[in-house]
Amino acid sequence: MADIIKLLPDHVANQIAAGEVVQRPASVVKELLENAIDAGSTHIKLIIKDAGKTLIQVIDNGMGMSATDARLSFERHATSKIQTAEDLFKLNTKGFRGEALASIAAIAHVEMNTREETNDVGTKLIIEGSKVVSQEVTVTPKGTSVAVKNLFYNIPARRNFLKSDNVELRHITDEFHRVAMAHPNVHFDFYNNGSEIFNLPVSNLRQRVVNIFGGKTNEKLVPISENTEVVNINGFVCKPEFSKKTRGEQFFFVNNRFIKSSYLHHAVSAAFEGLINDNVHPGYFLYFEVNPSSIDINIHPTKTEIKFDDEHTLYAILRSSVKHSLGQFNVAPVLDFERDSNLDTPYSYKNKQAGVPAIEVDAGFNPFKEETKKSFSSSGFKKDKTANWESLYVGLESKSNFENDFSTVQFESEEVTGSFFEDEKTGTDGAITYQLHRKYIVTTIKSGLVIIDQYRAHQRVLYEQFLKNITVKEGVSQQLLFPLTLTFSKAEMQLLGELKESLESTGFAFSGFKEDSVEITGVPVNVTESEAGILLDQLLSDFQQEVPDSGFSQTDLLAKTLSKTLAIRSGEKLDVNSQEALVNNLFACKEPAISPFNKQTYITMAVNEIDNKFL
Ligand code: ADP
Ligand code: MG
Repeated sequence: MADIIKLLPDHVANQIAAGEVVQRPASVVKELLENAIDAGSTHIKLIIKDAGKTLIQVIDNGMGMSATDARLSFERHATSKIQTAEDLFKLNTKGFRGEALASIAAIAHVEMNTREETNDVGTKLIIEGSKVVSQEVTVTPKGTSVAVKNLFYNIPARRNFLKSDNVELRHITDEFHRVAMAHPNVHFDFYNNGSEIFNLPVSNLRQRVVNIFGGKTNEKLVPISENTEVVNINGFVCKPEFSKKTRGEQFFFVNNRFIKSSYLHHAVSAAFEGLINDNVHPGYFLYFEVNPSSIDINIHPTKTEIKFDDEHTLYAILRSSVKHSLGQFNVAPVLDFERDSNLDTPYSYKNKQAGVPAIEVDAGFNPFKEETKKSFSSSGFKKDKTANWESLYVGLESKSNFENDFSTVQFESEEVTGSFFEDEKTGTDGAITYQLHRKYIVTTIKSGLVIIDQYRAHQRVLYEQFLKNITVKEGVSQQLLFPLTLTFSKAEMQLLGELKESLESTGFAFSGFKEDSVEITGVPVNVTESEAGILLDQLLSDFQQEVPDSGFSQTDLLAKTLSKTLAIRSGEKLDVNSQEALVNNLFACKEPAISPFNKQTYITMAVNEIDNKFL
C-alpha cells in the first residue's frame, strides 16, 4: 500500500495553530500589545474599528525590525526571544513561542510598517492568509505598526461565531486593561471607531489604576508592599467596605504578566476573613516579582495561568501581608492626624447634611406585659433588616420618603388573584405557613404538603414583576432626597448608557451621565438607596459576562439580575405575614414552579405519599 502520511503545508498548519492562539479579536489585541511591550516601546497606540472585526492596529515606538526580520517574524516558530530550551526558564518577555504573527497572518489581512532607529527607511509588508502580497521600502516612523484587517475572513464559521460588538469590545477592553495595568511606565492610547476611549500617560501604579477604573478608586486603595527573598509583592487591595457582590476588580500580575490563580485568590480572601461578608468579594491589584526560574509560564497556551515552584510559601506571604496592610489601615485613623476624615464616610453619604436623629418612643410599651408573639414577629434577628426586605413586597405604591426603609412596612397582597389557600380548611389557628431552617416555607394544601424555597420563590415573584415593569414601562420611581453619585469605569459607563432606558422603566432615574460617573435621582420603589449601587454593580458584571443581542433578552437578563440581587436569601427570617405573602405572590405568578434560572421553586408531597412513609 502506498504511503499516505504527508506533512501539512505551512499555511494549513498556520491556520490550525491560529485556532489556538486567536479565539477572538481580543486575542489579537493581546498578542500585538505584548509584542509592542517586548520591543521596549514607551508609547503604544491601540486602534480598533467595529470591535476589532474590521480593524485592529497597534502602533508602537519600540525597536522596530530590519527588512529581513519583518519578513521572518511571520514564519511559524520565528522568535527573537528565546534561542535555547534553557531560555524558557529565564523569560523576561511576554512572547516566546513565535506563533502569534504567523497565526494572525493566516486568518486575516495584515499590513506591517516597521523601522529600526538606525535605519533611514523602513519596511512595508502586506500578507493575506499567510501569503506575502508585497514587501517594499517605505518611509515610516521609528517602531512598528501592525494593522490586522478582516479577521477570520477565510474562516466564515469562526467569523460568524463572534459575539456582538459590545461583547467583543468588552473582551478587548479587558485585555487592554491587563496590559496597561502591568506597564504604568508605558503611555497607552486606545481608540474605538475614531473616538478615544483611554489615554493613559506614564504614571505610578496607583495613578494607572485610578486612570483606568475611575476617579473614586483612589480612596478605596490600601497599599501592599512586602519584600522577601522569595517574592516582592506590591500593589493594592480595596478597603473591605468597597467589596463588591461580583468579582470585578481582581488582578494578579507576576513579573508584569497578568495571571489568574484561584490559589492566590484564596490567600487574599483568607486575609479578608471576618472583615467582609461571605457574599461579597474583595478587590485587588497585586503585583508579584519572582525569579523567572521559579515559575513555569509554559503550561497554558494563552499563558494566563502559571505554575510556581513554591506555592505554599507564596500563599502564606501573600495572606499575611494583605492582613497586615488591612490591619494597619484599620488603626490608621487613630495615629494619622493628617487623615481626611471625609474619607471615612461611606461615599453615598458624603455630601449629605447631618440630620437630627429621630427618637422613637413606643407609648404603649409596658415592661410587665408578656410578649406573646415574640417567636414570630420580632425574633431578635436584625429587625431593621427584616423591615428592609419586607419593603420589597410593597409592590408599586410610592413610598413617602426613603426613610421608609427602616419603618415598618405594611404588607400588600391584594394584587394576588385568588389565594392559594382558598379551598383550604386547616382548622388550625391560622398559622398555616412555617419557616424551616430560615430557608424553606412549609405550607399545606388540600392534597398535602408544599415546601417552597424562599430565595427561588422570591426571585420568581420579583422577576415577573420587573419583566412587567420594563415591558409596559410602568415601574414607579421613588425620588431620592439626595442624589447618589456612583463612579464607574468608562467601559462600565458605556454599558450603563445602553441599559439606561430599560433601567428607567424599572423606576431608576438618572440625571448626570458623565464619562465616569452617574447621578441617581430615583430608584425603583422596591429598591433601597443602599441597594442601588450593589444592583448596578451586579448588573454590569452580569452583562459583561453575557451580553444579549436582542432587546428581548436584554430585558430578560435585566429582570433576572434584579430578581437575583433583590430576592430575600436563605438564612433570612420571615414572619408569618411575609411567608404568607410570598406563597400567595408565588402562586399568582405565570410560572410559579421554576425560578428565573430554571430551578425548581417548590416541591409537593401528597398525603398518600406521606401515608406510604408510615407503612
Ligand atoms: P513571539 O512574540 O512569541 O516571539 P510573535 O509571532 O509575536 O512571536 O513575533 C515574532 C517576532 O517578531 C518577535 O520575536 C519579534 O522579534 C518580532 N516582533 C513582533 N512584533 C514586534 C514589534 N512590535 N516590534 C519589534 N519586533 C516585533
Ligand atoms: Mg508575540
